[in-house]
Amino acid sequence: MNLFALVGATGLSIVFLLILFVPMEKVFPARKQKLLRPHWLLDLCFFLGQYFLWSSVVFLVLTYFGDFLAAIIPESFRTAVATQPWWLQAIEVVVLSDVVIYWGHRLQHNVDFLWRFHKVHHSATHLDWLAAHREHPLDTIYTVGLINLPAFILGFPLETIAGLIAFRGLWAIYIHSNVRLPIGPLRVLIGAPELHHWHHDKARDAGNYANISPLMDWIFGTYTCPDHEPEAFGINEDFPQHYAGQLIQPLLPEKINKKLRWEFLKLDYSEKVSDDHSVKNNS
Ligand SMILES: [Zn+2]
Ligand SMILES: [Zn+2]
Repeated sequence: MNLFALVGATGLSIVFLLILFVPMEKVFPARKQKLLRPHWLLDLCFFLGQYFLWSSVVFLVLTYFGDFLAAIIPESFRTAVATQPWWLQAIEVVVLSDVVIYWGHRLQHNVDFLWRFHKVHHSATHLDWLAAHREHPLDTIYTVGLINLPAFILGFPLETIAGLIAFRGLWAIYIHSNVRLPIGPLRVLIGAPELHHWHHDKARDAGNYANISPLMDWIFGTYTCPDHEPEAFGINEDFPQHYAGQLIQPLLPEKINKKLRWEFLKLDYSEKVSDDHSVKNNS
């Protein structure tokens, strides 16, 4: 894609997301929050970084990964999969993908090496549609690779599942949005932003690891849904609050990070957060 087309696509995406989410966040807010809340610029950097720098890298890595799997999986297995009705194949891909990403996500929280990268996403102290884009590119490769792993193994090329990938991407933005829709018990089945908001609670093991349906969290006992928003989002660690720092810090050994004293670059916004975050009950 040339630069002109890329700028156009990025502009269109941002306009589409603004039109979709800003009115929803105004009409059904989960908590009082301004559109230009603290650190919106940092999240915008992640948004632009995804479009201009990382999406092509992620796509390239995934294509190589798909080709590699294609070379090692027996043709007979793929033929057997392809002879099933299309709807059965679709269900298999979605369910397997949910299982894989659920466990992959739990590992991101439990394994220190994976948490190094995943904590970038969790360092957001304000959630909305824009904060959904705060993700280290290596964390994105891990997540997108796992989500698509079943499709690769079953032999679905990226183009065939493009719709599913797009839907999952949009859903991921929705569950971060500052929205609380009155869907009642339906959220147990289809999920909702409040579930993922609780996943962003400051506790590293807060639960709700599922991507679309919270079914996996139900089955494996990690479902949580109090009737109010968490007191605060973020992580209980010192972490730089600027784009370069968030990209580089996870790549460096702990010793070097201590020497670099990233904490001097950390902005103290705790007071601002509590001012901004008047918790709104939903009962
Ligand atoms: Zn997480
Ligand atoms: Zn999240």
